[in-house]
Amino acid sequence: MIALTRREFHLFQAAGRDFLYLVPSAAVFALDAPTSAVLGAVCEKPLSDEAVVAALAARFDGDAVRTAIRELVDVRAIGYEHQPVEQPPRMLPMMPFPLNTMVLNVTNQCNLACTYCYEYGEDKIVDTEHGKQSKFMSEQTALASVDFLLKESARVAHLTFFGGETLLNFPVLKSTIAYARRRAAEAGKEIDFSLTTNATLLKPEIIEFLAENHVGVTISIDGPREMQDKFRVFHNGAGSYDVVAPKIKELLRVHRTRPIGARVTLTSDTLDITRIYRHLTEEMGFWEVGFAPVTTSPQQQYAIGEHGFDRMLGQFRALAAEFLAHAAVNRHHGFTNVKDTLEEIHKGVSKAYPCGAGLGLLGVSTDGDVALCHRFAGSDAHKFGTVHDGIDRDAQTAFLQQHHINDKTDCQTCWARPLCSGGCYHEAHVRYGTTTRPNLHYCEWIRGWTDTCLQIYGELSERNPDFLARFDREEAKAEAVL
Ligand code: SF4
Ligand code: SF4
Repeated sequence: MIALTRREFHLFQAAGRDFLYLVPSAAVFALDAPTSAVLGAVCEKPLSDEAVVAALAARFDGDAVRTAIRELVDVRAIGYEHQPVEQPPRMLPMMPFPLNTMVLNVTNQCNLACTYCYEYGEDKIVDTEHGKQSKFMSEQTALASVDFLLKESARVAHLTFFGGETLLNFPVLKSTIAYARRRAAEAGKEIDFSLTTNATLLKPEIIEFLAENHVGVTISIDGPREMQDKFRVFHNGAGSYDVVAPKIKELLRVHRTRPIGARVTLTSDTLDITRIYRHLTEEMGFWEVGFAPVTTSPQQQYAIGEHGFDRMLGQFRALAAEFLAHAAVNRHHGFTNVKDTLEEIHKGVSKAYPCGAGLGLLGVSTDGDVALCHRFAGSDAHKFGTVHDGIDRDAQTAFLQQHHINDKTDCQTCWARPLCSGGCYHEAHVRYGTTTRPNLHYCEWIRGWTDTCLQIYGELSERNPDFLARFDREEAKAEAVL
């Protein structure tokens, strides 16, 4: 007797039926009654085909059970005991990998002194105060960075300005955009611009410039006054809410060419997610809001501990339920954490690396050093060349070899690895002192959140598949540009 046995999947329920998230293929598979029953029987104990047919004879006829077995074997949810489970090969991306997004750190200085900031706090990687990197990027370096991006990108390039506080170097940002537009047109490429700012330096001429130039804007803000002023303070300790609130309202009123998003850093002291979301969308007028837990060592009093992650998950779930209610009737909801994960699920994303850092995304320091991402810009240990000399392909290849998901032993038995792939390198560096370690301190949170998003995906696939089809349409639109 050759017995059937379970393979690797995550079972979840949505819209009153069972679904599988198939780990090797990162596909979602809806089960009907016979496939659910077959799976249940095989998961209880290994059984031969005929033993499964016999066990389910009272509920389904033999042909229906055999068809269900075939389907489950085809999608590799179950398999025969004697057939070895194939491990996916350890494939490195084809080189040279095109650069898709370049994050330009136009300054490492900031007019705020947010207590949790990785650039200035105890967790910093790069000493921006006493290190060798310039405090501001020169126009010459910024223009050389544009040439570098256009040389290394495929047909479409994204240029993101970052800091410190990005707008402290607005003159360079302005001339860089003008130069990049001209050079991209000459090179026959598309270029798109975005920036992240703390909003303190927004003023009418800057807002007008951003609107006219279709610059995507993300505002770092933590919510209503009492939450914003807890950590996002000026160097003299004064809170920043009263300074930024009117400027943001003006930005949202004038800049209508692209949706403006808020990016919230969550700490153990500011975990009222629903209240933050309501304030930023309904009271302030942001189109969308994304949340990320603070990156810090566990000793910090504001670090989110185990209970904090549980609380955060509960609140994310409540807001995600609201997202689902909106999406089911094609209404906009601005909780981007759900939307982003749904898109990855829909596209069957299976990551060998947690994010684009070091691959399609690179950060550039104020002196033009090219780094893993913006959070490592200026760190010699994470340098991949310079904008003048190009990408150090040996360093890049060595990095990709060391960080492949197949080498993260703890992740090899985790069903969430196609989407998590070990998590952010910066978080790992801060927690464990190395980018190679998976972020095992937040696995429960990742799996809980991924399960929630899978349930929403399953619900939408039954109740409003058109909502999910928009991801295909958006992709087709982007490819048409290519
Ligand atoms: S870090 Fe944790 S949640 Fe992420 S893939 Fe690894 S084991 Fe899974
Ligand atoms: S390493 Fe972390 S901070 Fe850098 S791009 Fe990836 S997810 Fe973002």
